[in-house]
Amino acid sequence: MGFEDPESFEPRILSRAYLDAVKNVALRVVVERGGALYCGICGRGPYRRKGLYLHLKRIHGDDILDLVELEVRRLVSSSKRRGRA
Ligand SMILES: [Zn+2]
Repeated sequence: MGFEDPESFEPRILSRAYLDAVKNVALRVVVERGGALYCGICGRGPYRRKGLYLHLKRIHGDDILDLVELEVRRLVSSSKRRGRA
């Protein structure tokens, strides 16, 4: 899905925001309950780590890209507000 290659994302500040965004989105879409993993988008599970990853990639790939993009924008605009950009 292109998650694996944040360096291709320019400029650098966006690359940094992109990594953080992927992390934040991952926290939201991976739900851990009683030692098992569930999908945070549709609630399906339980999965093993690899199974959940495949599920997210196949079923929610586009949704997740949208979430990441929104999160990148949010992070970039909030870091600008704080004067760190
Ligand atoms: Zn799901």
